[in-house]
Amino acid sequence: MILPRYRGAVRETVGAMDGRVRGGVRLKRGEEADLRLGRRWVYANEVAAVGGDPRPGDVVDVVDAAGRFAGRGFYNPRSLLAVRLLTREDEAIDAGFFRRRLEAAWAYRQRAFAGREERLRACRAVFGEADLLPALIVDRFGDVLSLQTLALGLERWKEVLADTLEELLAPAAVVERNDAPVRDLEGLPRRAGVLRGTLPPEVVISEEGVTFRVDVLEGQKTGHFLDQLDNRVAARDLCAGKRVLDAFAYTGGFGLHAAWAGAAETVLLDDSEAALALAAENARRNGVDGRVVTRRANAFDALRRLAGAGERFDAVILDPPAFTKSRASVEGARRGYKEINLRALKLLPPGGILVSASCSYHMGEEEFLATVHEAAADAGRFLRLIEKRGAGRDHPALLGVPETRYLKCLIFEVL
Ligand code: SAH
Repeated sequence: MILPRYRGAVRETVGAMDGRVRGGVRLKRGEEADLRLGRRWVYANEVAAVGGDPRPGDVVDVVDAAGRFAGRGFYNPRSLLAVRLLTREDEAIDAGFFRRRLEAAWAYRQRAFAGREERLRACRAVFGEADLLPALIVDRFGDVLSLQTLALGLERWKEVLADTLEELLAPAAVVERNDAPVRDLEGLPRRAGVLRGTLPPEVVISEEGVTFRVDVLEGQKTGHFLDQLDNRVAARDLCAGKRVLDAFAYTGGFGLHAAWAGAAETVLLDDSEAALALAAENARRNGVDGRVVTRRANAFDALRRLAGAGERFDAVILDPPAFTKSRASVEGARRGYKEINLRALKLLPPGGILVSASCSYHMGEEEFLATVHEAAADAGRFLRLIEKRGAGRDHPALLGVPETRYLKCLIFEVL
């Protein structure tokens, strides 16, 4: 579609108040190429000119250097991501637009987990850009939806999104977990609370036999790490009969699956008291508390101490938080990953299992693998990679936005 070169006049399209197109962003020459490949962001340094008088959070049209329409999205001059694309079509940004996108996101999950009602009840229902809904996260925990609106433009649609989600999924409650630090970059306040309905006294989900209570208001991120759900299930059989160390255990994730699958003893390590309290409760809930212990410690220190004390485990799980959120600090992150993998490998005899994950986008899969390889060499261990996994189907990766492909979960055996 070819629109006249943007001349700075405010062009309005039909739709909700907030969805009116209030300006235009003209790209520098050649910068539209990535959008054509599926990228959904325009960086501030790719912008040649801004027409009209768009306020932060308004909808703007994006045009290429020749004035051809390239998409429509949320504008935020305060952010490095000047425009987050909503559509590449000339369509109105209104409640109907968001409803169609939310319906599509849920229809995809129903295809991806066809016949798996339980998985659909512990599922990321919307994964931002990968669902063509920039900066929107919705996790479904049974009857509760946990929502994050992580960009200024999207924040304005929060009530519409909550209403539409209520209609589509009929939850008992919708909560917002908008206390994420990335909101600062958008100039948005941090807050968490109930947006719709009433929270049930307990939010409990089931992951193929293992149940977890999820603290939706105070737990980390949205309360539970759904991206590793299928990996927890995949890794657990390898732990049967073994002594297992889950070094970044949170509320018990991998470790409780291991215990459920018959691990002889499981140590859940974390530096968060609140996470471990819930982990202990979850262990009781699953009837494995007799074989599970929790220890509060910094994993870096604890791994070193355990190795120093000559302790041995048959399986070690490393699922740390992202060690880097930027390219600039990737070297420090690499050292961190190397350190924990090296310490973990010292605890493992031949035949031992190492489950090693990284959710740092900036640490690519090959680089991560190379880091574990170096750690193995330093520890004097030979490894073979027996399974290479990523996030589950509820976290699809959009090819134009490589940031949506961030999780690596590698399973190794020590030779
Ligand atoms: N494996 C978990 C998710 C882990 S999230 C699951 O499947 O649910 C990362 C966890 O690491 C968080 O619980 C956080 O509290 C913990 N953590 C962060 N830094 C740590 C450190 N230095 N030592 C120990 N735990 C740490």
